[in-house]
Amino acid sequence: MNNAGIGGSVRKAFKAALVVTIGLTGLGDLPFSAPGFMALASAAESDKPAKEIFGAAKLPAVLSARAIGFYSKGCLAGGIAIPTDGPTWQAMRLSRNRRWGHPDLIALVERLSREAAAQDGWPGLLVGDISQPRGGPMLSGHASHQVGLDADVWLTPMPRRTLSARERETTSAISVLRKNTLHVDPKIWTPAHARLLMRAASYPQVERIFVHPGIKKKLCDTWTGNRASMGKIRPYYGHHYHFHIRIKCPPGMSGCRSQNPPPAGSGCGKQLAWWFTDEPWAPAKPAKDTKPKPKKRHIRLTDLPSACAVVASAPAPASEREVTLGADPIARIAAANASNASAAGFATSSFAPLPATGPLPQPRPFN
Ligand SMILES: [Zn+2]
Repeated sequence: MNNAGIGGSVRKAFKAALVVTIGLTGLGDLPFSAPGFMALASAAESDKPAKEIFGAAKLPAVLSARAIGFYSKGCLAGGIAIPTDGPTWQAMRLSRNRRWGHPDLIALVERLSREAAAQDGWPGLLVGDISQPRGGPMLSGHASHQVGLDADVWLTPMPRRTLSARERETTSAISVLRKNTLHVDPKIWTPAHARLLMRAASYPQVERIFVHPGIKKKLCDTWTGNRASMGKIRPYYGHHYHFHIRIKCPPGMSGCRSQNPPPAGSGCGKQLAWWFTDEPWAPAKPAKDTKPKPKKRHIRLTDLPSACAVVASAPAPASEREVTLGADPIARIAAANASNASAAGFATSSFAPLPATGPLPQPRPFN
């Protein structure tokens, strides 16, 4: 099935769910003058670092799905979780509770896992961090991943067996680089890695894929297939244990800001060559003036788009089960159709159960 089909079904399912939840909560859609907003405006909350507020949310905001703001400054309404286990993926670092995203992103990760397993010789995805239940800034890691449109996937293929919850906390991803070099290790790198990355970049809704410059170079030097999406693969620091998928704002979503498209061309020329000079890796020069820098102020709720205050205080669903995407796409689509027919279908549908979350990458990209 093409992606529009799956994404459309997921969206429909979500809308149907909303009709129910909104009916129950009387909240209505964003932007709102919801009761929660007033509560949130209390001085204590508005003074708290936003990462503490969003880092504490265990479940998503029951609102229509919406990515609000920018990848590095925003939040997520109506987030859904990817199940911890699917036929072609396993979510890692469950304790972090970062398995949440916009339904379009969750559907895309599932699609990539299926297609890579079926066609690329990549047995399945180990899924790292996506977003917190309500997105927003995090207490650790990531500057981006705030609006439910960014996902990290390990560059380590999924093992054949199901990892235990403990293994998902303690297993380390494997770097694809040769030690102390900027180049991939031919003993670790495989053509399946290349196929997986090029497939991920090929989806029209994908805006960028971030990888280490050594990986980009390997693709530039060896990929003989269609290179139309090569320019979306962006070199950046880190990203040799995992890669990062960033999708565009879903079409027509007001208040969601996409990044500018990457520069035209494959990005295999001068832009890439720069990464193999000393400049990007040189230690930062000490500042000339010795004036102490003003202490960096924490991002507060009021620094985020105003709808994020509503997201922070909106009601949660009764359980995680209600907001976890079904592991089986066929069952999920059937459930979506059923719940479209009778709006009551959501709470009792076959949306899979399971607890929440993924790896810690390096500083976040904006190239
Ligand atoms: Zn990431």
